[in-house]
Amino acid sequence: MQILAQENKIKAINPIAYFDSSHINLTYLHAYWQIDPKVNYINGEVTYYFKTSQITNKLYFSLAKNLSVDTILYHQNGVAYSHDYLNKLQIFLPSIIAPNEIDSITIRYQGAPSRSGFGAFTQSDHGYGPVIWTLSEPFGSMEWWPSKLSLDDKIDSIDIFIRTPKPYLAAANGLLVATDSMENDFIYHWKHRYPITSYLVAFAVSNYKQYTDTADLIDGPLPILNYVYPQNLTNSKLQTKAVIPILKLYEKLVGPYPFAKEKYGHAQCGFSGGMEHQTMSFMGNFNRGLIAHELAHQWFGNMVTCAGWEDIWLNEGFATYFAALINDFDVDPAQWNLFKTSTISYVTDVSDGSVKVSDTNNISTIFNERLSYKKGSYLLHMLRGVMGDSLFFLGLRSYLYDQNLQHDYASTNSLAYHLSAVTGKDLQWFFDDWFIGEGYPTYEILWRNEANNQVVITVKQKSSSATVSFFEMPIELQLSNSTKDTIVRVDNLFSGQDFVVQLNFTPNKLDFDPNRWILAKSKVSNVADVTNLGKISLQIRPNPASENINLVFSKAISLNELKIINTQGETIKTINYTGNFTTSGNIFIGDLPSGYYLVRIKTDKEILNNSLIKF
Ligand SMILES: [Zn+2]
Repeated sequence: MQILAQENKIKAINPIAYFDSSHINLTYLHAYWQIDPKVNYINGEVTYYFKTSQITNKLYFSLAKNLSVDTILYHQNGVAYSHDYLNKLQIFLPSIIAPNEIDSITIRYQGAPSRSGFGAFTQSDHGYGPVIWTLSEPFGSMEWWPSKLSLDDKIDSIDIFIRTPKPYLAAANGLLVATDSMENDFIYHWKHRYPITSYLVAFAVSNYKQYTDTADLIDGPLPILNYVYPQNLTNSKLQTKAVIPILKLYEKLVGPYPFAKEKYGHAQCGFSGGMEHQTMSFMGNFNRGLIAHELAHQWFGNMVTCAGWEDIWLNEGFATYFAALINDFDVDPAQWNLFKTSTISYVTDVSDGSVKVSDTNNISTIFNERLSYKKGSYLLHMLRGVMGDSLFFLGLRSYLYDQNLQHDYASTNSLAYHLSAVTGKDLQWFFDDWFIGEGYPTYEILWRNEANNQVVITVKQKSSSATVSFFEMPIELQLSNSTKDTIVRVDNLFSGQDFVVQLNFTPNKLDFDPNRWILAKSKVSNVADVTNLGKISLQIRPNPASENINLVFSKAISLNELKIINTQGETIKTINYTGNFTTSGNIFIGDLPSGYYLVRIKTDKEILNNSLIKF
């Protein structure tokens, strides 16, 4: 979903509606909805096929209390139920049903739905005719049909029948397999044979004009069905075509369109923004960025759905990032750069807040633009920076097409698992800092030229939030003069870390993170004399090293203690090397296993650290 105007936030829904119905596994939905777009009313008959995971004689669904249940049928007989003020529809079966056996229940109901969340069920007039459209994410499906609000059970397959007066058209999920005429009405039969979560089930009815484009995709031609208001037909035909190259780009980046046996499409509606209903996005306009955002959700959000609302960034961060990616790869460098700079400045405008949703009953918190959308998108950009393009996109494919996640649900841990697996390195630290932790780093870079084109760079870092003590990130630094430039990449493991860089020219400028791989603020200063740094600097030469190192200090020190510490913080070597000098003799490290180390020096005045790479 992309929200372009705040007035769509109508009312927060009663979060108690969100109760446990995890013992019911929905296998099929047959829905018959009678709708007149001129009237805010729904008359419905919903049949579920289901299995239960335990012996039970009770079923639960969420249904708004203002809708009235006419009858509930179980094996053709009416059964008892209660429908309470918490919008809980409790059905009492006459006998106990055994686990894992397919059974079914039919619920007939009607009423005038209320609007909640981002619309749920909205009846209005678009100026040239009436329209009814639904938009249920996150808790709105119960405003217009008995459903499960919890994100633990996709319905394996659905058939939707919409009965509406002629000549209105109805758009919905899947394929339109039949249009029947009955008296003054049409009955549209939409059939969808992929698992779908309740908030993605949707329809829209209006005096639509319909046209079809075709995209030639990996799995063959895919129809793109468009339902637009008559007054927008000419413009829409020009605008919706933009989806075809974007479909091809996404297929190239992460794999085949997830619903290739059916269709993709757009239905115009009154929402100020867009909503990625499975195989048919509902759109307030056909802006290219909005088209891209909702299309990206077909992979991220629809095929693989966030397992809980605290993980909504797996839907929205991905859709935001993939909408930005349509300008990357040299398509529109100015727009791509604008995405990066504007996102960094917007997110770092506030010092705290985690991407992990802190209150999953609060719709504004779940769909927080700064955190779930923008910061979420930048987590992906940073992971791409850490991993490199080929491993990053390979990791996303591995996540999307995991047999346990594909057409099901995933948590942030699942993403961390797949990205770690393709890189062969545990990336949990990244998710601890950036998903669970809050804030961002501010870097202070101090640098100076030394003899023989050597540059000494000190990287200091402060975190904006106490929840993260240090952001352990690789950083890129660009060194340049009027004729030459180069980018060096260093692993910043602690604040105050020094790096010595050997160049073949003398730079007069240093730029921090020129390609904007890090969500951070920064300040760069050239420091002509090391004494201005306020402390003695320690360099390790050579670094990386395999056998021997020398310690080089910016002025003579009196050394008391030298320790080599591993990444777990354990001292693995204490070397008795004392004396008063600027350059030490050889220090043997040939006995250390390969890896990252911290060299810690205690002098009579202070403690100095620097990192060492042993190979
Ligand atoms: Zn979205």
